[in-house]
Amino acid sequence: MRVIKKEFKTALNKYKYPDSWFWARYSINPYSGCQHACTYCDARSERYYLNDFENEIVVKIDIDKKLSVKLKRARKLLPDVVGPGGVSDAYQPIEQEIENTRRILKVLSKFKFPVNIATKSSLITRDIDILKNIAKDSWCTVGFSITTTNEDLARFLEPYSSAPLDRLEAMKSIKKRAPEIQVGTYFMPIIPFLEDSDENLESVVKKSKESGADFVLFSPGLTLRDSQKAYFFEKLKKSEHSKIVKPLLKLCDDSIMLGNYLKEINSKMLELCNKYSLGIRLKRWIPNDYRKWNYIISQMLLNKYYKDSLTGKVNKSLLWAGLYLNNLEESIIDIRARTTLLQIRGFNTSVASLIERYLDRKNIERKSALDNFL
Ligand code: SF4
Repeated sequence: MRVIKKEFKTALNKYKYPDSWFWARYSINPYSGCQHACTYCDARSERYYLNDFENEIVVKIDIDKKLSVKLKRARKLLPDVVGPGGVSDAYQPIEQEIENTRRILKVLSKFKFPVNIATKSSLITRDIDILKNIAKDSWCTVGFSITTTNEDLARFLEPYSSAPLDRLEAMKSIKKRAPEIQVGTYFMPIIPFLEDSDENLESVVKKSKESGADFVLFSPGLTLRDSQKAYFFEKLKKSEHSKIVKPLLKLCDDSIMLGNYLKEINSKMLELCNKYSLGIRLKRWIPNDYRKWNYIISQMLLNKYYKDSLTGKVNKSLLWAGLYLNNLEESIIDIRARTTLLQIRGFNTSVASLIERYLDRKNIERKSALDNFL
């Protein structure tokens, strides 16, 4: 493996909208490239322009200092959820020695920025002290990416990550030592014919619950793109799993078949999460400023969009209204007091009537009515 130390101009990137799965508004990458080298990793596709992403790791030097300067200077940069990682795991093995992620977390903690980390490594338990402080001061979520509890299959798919049972142990340890941290499992991808048996679905959900998970976020299917697709199928063909190549290709090429498949797995997962009392969405960080109600209502609209789409009902107006709300520079409560909700970008009459009844109430009543809905 080659390690390249490099200085970058920017430390923190802001998304146009937060994403409704992880609620991250900013991203920061302590490294480029990922030693975990998962067989299915999307970073192998051409859109990321990463040459040899598992053998060439770029260490971003002084990233914590750059971040600190940026947060100190940028008066207009409002705190919001930061998601370290992206197409590299913030806790890949090199972090043990370099500690870029740990230093970044210290800066985020100092400036009281909430954090959501996804990882396949138990190394994250090293930083429980900082994560706990972040959770106390604002909000902290740790999601372990776990897609199978079968150790042999995990070794084929994710050869250099912590074993799934070690990730579950790490989850348990975080929940025990810092219950204020929201923890759970990102069960994505659920690879057709490899990880979608009833036995594996239930095992991942059950073991997550036993390890203290608050949520299991799931996504059946798998992204298959250009060079990443070629790499994955090559690996499959040479493995004991070669028999899934044909059915997987057939499933991905037939949109009707794929649609029915996704509905079936989503419905099984919904049932399982219900059975084990696990959330299927993250509890969002809510700021205590003019954005408060915009974020709460955005969460409600985006969660409704997601839940409806699981059963095949896709209402894009909920999605867009939910996303645009995050960029308003005024509270929706104040807008509602002086004009109609239809003035807000993305709002049509059906979206407006859905939330109107909550906005008419007093603050406390509004909060409890929405809590019930969420
Ligand atoms: S841990 Fe994530 S980024 Fe790293 S190789 Fe695996 S899927 Fe890719």
